[in-house]
Amino acid sequence: MTDKYDVVIIGSGPAGYVCAIRAAQLGLKTVCIEKYKNVAGKGVNGGTCLNEGCIPSKALLDSSMKFHDAKTSLVHHGITARSVSVDIEQMIGRKDDIVKKLTSGIASLFKANGVAALYGTGKLLAGKKVEYTDAKGKTKVIEAENVVLATGSVPIDIPVAPIDDKLIIDSKAALDLTKVPKRLGIIGAGVIGLELGSVWNRLGSEVVLLEALDVFLAIMDKQIAKDASKIFAKQGLDIRLGCRVTGSEIKRGKVNVTYQSSAGKEQQETFDKLIVCVGRQPSTENLLAEDCGVNLDERGSIFVDDYCATNAPGVWAIGDLVRGPMLAHKGSEEGVMVAERIAGQLTEMNYDIIPNVVYTHPEIASVGRNEEELKQAGEPYNVGMFPFVASGRALAADDTDGLVKILAHAETDRILGAHIIGPSAAELVQQVAIAMEFGSSAEDVGMMVFAHPSMSEAVHEAALAVNGHAIHVANRRKRKAKK
Ligand code: FAD
Ligand code: AMP
Repeated sequence: MTDKYDVVIIGSGPAGYVCAIRAAQLGLKTVCIEKYKNVAGKGVNGGTCLNEGCIPSKALLDSSMKFHDAKTSLVHHGITARSVSVDIEQMIGRKDDIVKKLTSGIASLFKANGVAALYGTGKLLAGKKVEYTDAKGKTKVIEAENVVLATGSVPIDIPVAPIDDKLIIDSKAALDLTKVPKRLGIIGAGVIGLELGSVWNRLGSEVVLLEALDVFLAIMDKQIAKDASKIFAKQGLDIRLGCRVTGSEIKRGKVNVTYQSSAGKEQQETFDKLIVCVGRQPSTENLLAEDCGVNLDERGSIFVDDYCATNAPGVWAIGDLVRGPMLAHKGSEEGVMVAERIAGQLTEMNYDIIPNVVYTHPEIASVGRNEEELKQAGEPYNVGMFPFVASGRALAADDTDGLVKILAHAETDRILGAHIIGPSAAELVQQVAIAMEFGSSAEDVGMMVFAHPSMSEAVHEAALAVNGHAIHVANRRKRKAKK
């Protein structure tokens, strides 16, 4: 028997589930297929983001921060917390409860919006057909006017450190450790490596991050990355740049890692656990029948145009499966765009304004272009900066590391980018992103009234500083005299 739908979505991560809900809201008969199973073997929605990515990592980042504060920072506030200890089982359990709440929330949202949910595996066949295999291995073919591929990404494995799920683990298992490793190695000092390293460092591990590149956080603004590197070193994260892991060996319950430093020297380290965080790759295994007509690009992602249409008519692809940053919110917005385009609307997405956040402490966040990119493009720009050490709110919170940096076009004053390291950077960067969406100038933001005292005042002052008008910090640029 063949079922027929307006839209079939394969994958229910933040790209797929958002697409499904929006499509159903627009009156399209929609079904979403998901193969993920929780520890109890039950099919669940939410993908990497909810089950083993954004949300569980933030739950542990917040818990570990509270432990760290109780142990080290509260004294400064005049609070003595004697014998602070950590119950890892309780901490992991709290994280699991949050995941359960959110993933079951998606199932409820599907019900409320009329999205049909299927648990099992989807495979794209030729002619906009999808083969669905349920948990028992029974298959059926679903026909659709439109198919949306949203199968996300999986961690990259490297043969020099094969995952054994005991001593050498991936990012998923690193969110489920039941004991704090004494000495923890992490391959890759990218976003995920830094977040996981922060969690276990705060809980007491001695953390060493081995990073092949010579440059730290290469995608970030240089000055911000430099500040971050100093702050993380102070926190005890041992970040070794230019160190490419070339081999690993398990011996007497420990992992011996061999790596090559940029000077060409071979070195060794021994760890109690090793987390491999060397990036993620699009999840296309068993997704595409040979004759389905969908092309891949040179990086193995599904090839799509600016609107996420593949080269096969009526087949779309979104999220980590396609070009662009592997970020949950990027995939969700693509999901909305595709659902609306299927419904006949001409929705577009602004790929130039996608905020990017590293949830370390302090947080690091950016939106738009950085100085290096503007220099390369030959665009003249002005810089406005404000350090949190000059913010009353940051001082009151005892959280003064970092700064806000705003870049604006030298002639039009239009904001081109913001780069922040500091408290609540994830929230602050969104304020600039909104301003950028509306084409604001730095002067526009400078003229707005900001609540006092607030961390947001740092954004206000950085915007003022672009034109030499900052009040609470010495201006690097001369004020333009107004006649
Ligand atoms: P996924 O979330 O990967 O979902 C794809 C779903 O498709 C999965 O559930 C999978 O089981 C299912 N699937 C795959 N193949 C099939 C098939 N054949 N049939 C049926 N179902 C299938 N991003 C952020 O923006 N902010 C963060 O703070 C953040 N933190 C992260 C922390 C960690 C530790 C990790 C690993 C990632 C983090 N990310 C973060 C990245 C974010 O999780 C991804 O960008 C996001 O989940 C991608 O969404 P997606 O819907 O494209 O794919
Ligand atoms: P991200 O892409 O942000 O998840 O970061 C992954 C990081 O892992 C990148 O900065 C890579 O340079 C790094 N990496 C990849 N392979 C190795 C390796 N063999 N040894 C050390 N670092 C690596």
